[in-house]
Amino acid sequence: MATIFSKIVAGEIPCHRVFETEHCLAFLDINPIARGHVLCIPKQEVDYIFDLDDESLCELQLFAKRVARGLKKVCPCIKVAQAVIGVDVPHVHIHLVPLNKPSDLNFSNHLEISSEELSELARQIGAAID
Ligand code: AMP
Repeated sequence: MATIFSKIVAGEIPCHRVFETEHCLAFLDINPIARGHVLCIPKQEVDYIFDLDDESLCELQLFAKRVARGLKKVCPCIKVAQAVIGVDVPHVHIHLVPLNKPSDLNFSNHLEISSEELSELARQIGAAID
């Protein structure tokens, strides 16, 4: 069965789309732990990041770097943190989280952000990506 992220890639489920390339997609996490919490995924459905072939892994990492640079312009922070967990959705995803203090990278945090604000944020981050 297709993962929820494959359904997003296929356009069957909506998302706050940030940016995409031929093989990768970035969208806002639906349950953000910080303002500007982005997920970067390969469009190819693979569960575990270290099962990606070398080329796909490098491509995803370079994609995440590009997105992180745009994200930092829109959500001022000391650094953009990167995390890979993948216990809930069996489709590779890199979490990008603007970080101003270590506790910002806490997956127990949950921010209330309206859908309108998420849409605007996604638009701004997408526009800031070179
Ligand atoms: P994990 O697999 O533990 O890395 O967590 C999965 C992440 O995907 C969580 O942060 C969820 O909030 C996020 N998530 C799940 N479904 C969606 C969705 N439809 N759109 C955006 N983010 C999602």
